[in-house]
Amino acid sequence: MSIHDIVSVLLVGIGFSLSVLVHELGHAILQKMFGLPVSMIEWGSGPRIFKFKVFEMRLIPLRGSVFPNGSTLAKSKWVALVIAAGGILAQWFGMWMIAVSHIYIIPTINIICISYAVAAFVSLLNLIPTRNSDGYFIIKALRRTRGMMNEK
Ligand SMILES: [Zn+2]
Repeated sequence: MSIHDIVSVLLVGIGFSLSVLVHELGHAILQKMFGLPVSMIEWGSGPRIFKFKVFEMRLIPLRGSVFPNGSTLAKSKWVALVIAAGGILAQWFGMWMIAVSHIYIIPTINIICISYAVAAFVSLLNLIPTRNSDGYFIIKALRRTRGMMNEK
């Protein structure tokens, strides 16, 4: 493995983990905008690298979570839906911003941006409703009835 290969792997990792960060910030910002609490934004898994207020970075930043889950706290079905979908929407908005900046500002495509975009596509797998995935919370939001909304 040459230095060039190592740098490439690192850049791919940076692009991917930035995409994950944008995803989690998407959930967290929307949650705040709708007046719901955010007690922790976790970026990565494994041992904690640093903590600043509610933000925590962990050793392997390839996944993330926002606590508590705003879509479960939201009183309205549509707020719950927007928060649940907010991670992927933020990632795709970021991808659109990258595309626009490539057209108007930086014409070269770099490996970080490609990796970011790949991660944004991979994030669509998160729509598969497995346990605690975005898709699971989106379906949960869509199935909400008035009775459930009034539950505390
Ligand atoms: Zn998410």
